[in-house]
Amino acid sequence: MPATQTKPAITIVEVGPRDGLQILKSILPTAYKTRWIAAAAAAGLREIEVCSFVPVAVVPGMADAADVVRFARTVPGLTTTALAPNAKGAQAAFAAGAHRVSMPISVSIAHNLANVRKTHEQSIDELRRAVDVRNGQPKSDNAEIEIGLSTAFGCSIAGAVPLADVLTLAEKCLAAGADRVTPADTIGIGNPVQVKRMYAALFKEFGTSKIGGSHFHDTRGQGIANALAALEAGVTSFDTSLAGLGGCPFAPGASGNVCTEDLVWILEEMGVTTGIDLAKLLACRDILRDGLPQEKLSGHLAEVGLARTQSGGRVAAAR
Ligand code: ZN
Repeated sequence: MPATQTKPAITIVEVGPRDGLQILKSILPTAYKTRWIAAAAAAGLREIEVCSFVPVAVVPGMADAADVVRFARTVPGLTTTALAPNAKGAQAAFAAGAHRVSMPISVSIAHNLANVRKTHEQSIDELRRAVDVRNGQPKSDNAEIEIGLSTAFGCSIAGAVPLADVLTLAEKCLAAGADRVTPADTIGIGNPVQVKRMYAALFKEFGTSKIGGSHFHDTRGQGIANALAALEAGVTSFDTSLAGLGGCPFAPGASGNVCTEDLVWILEEMGVTTGIDLAKLLACRDILRDGLPQEKLSGHLAEVGLARTQSGGRVAAAR
C-alpha cells in the first residue's frame, strides 16, 4: 500500500525554507519558496517551517517572511511554523498567520549572547512577551510557541553542554509559558547515546507532550543515526531539510539539517510511515536547482535515484 494511504506514524517537519535558506549567500526568490512549499505539501509534508522574522539587515533572504507565511496559510492542511528570535518577531509571525512560532534560546549562555545578544533572563523575558502576544490571538487559531533549545548537544564556543543545563533552561521556558521545548543540535555534534539520554531525561522530567521533537544537523554525517536514536527514544517529530540544505556557520562546507528525503526513505524502509510520496519529494529538488543554481544540493537518495533503491528489504507496515 502506498505510504500516502497509511496513517503516518511520525511527522516530518520540513525546515529548509527557514534553517536551510537563512545561512546561504544566495537568496531564493519568493516565487520559488511558494512553489517549494506547495510542492512539499503535495508530496505529503504536513508541517513546514517557512521563514524567520529577523531583521532584513541580518538575513536579507527573509525579507518576504510575512508574504511566505500568508501563502503557506492558503495550503490546505498545512501547519505553518516560523522562527522568531524575539517578541517583536513573534508578533509579526502571528500577525501574518503562523500557527506556531519557534523561538531559539541557546542552552550555552555564551552562544545565546553571540546569537541573539541576550542573557537567559532577557531571552525568557522575550518569551513572556511573546506569550502575551500569543494569548491575544483569536482562540480558533490555536497559535503555539515552541522554544528551540539551541546548542543542547554541545556548543561551538563553550564546548560540552551539561544535560542538567538543558533541563534547567527547559523548566524555565515551560514555566514562562512555552507550549513545548525542542533540544536542537545546532552545530551537529551530538551522538546517538547522548540523544537517547537527552530524551529519556526530558520525557521523564516534563512528559512527552511538552517536548516538541528533534532537530539535528548533519555536520559530521551523524544526522540520520541521531534521528533514528530519537525515534527509538520515542520521538515522533523530526526537523529535516530538503537536499540537506543549509550548513553550519562554524563548519564551512558542511551539510545542513538531516536530509528530508534520506530520512523519509530509511523510515519507510523500516516500516515507519511518513505519509510522504518519495518521488514527489525528490522532484521538489528541481525547484531548488532552478532557484539556487550556485548552491550545492546534498542527499544520498537523489544520487542513486529512487528506482534502484527498492531493496526488497522493506519492513511490512506494522506500526
Ligand atoms: Zn538548525
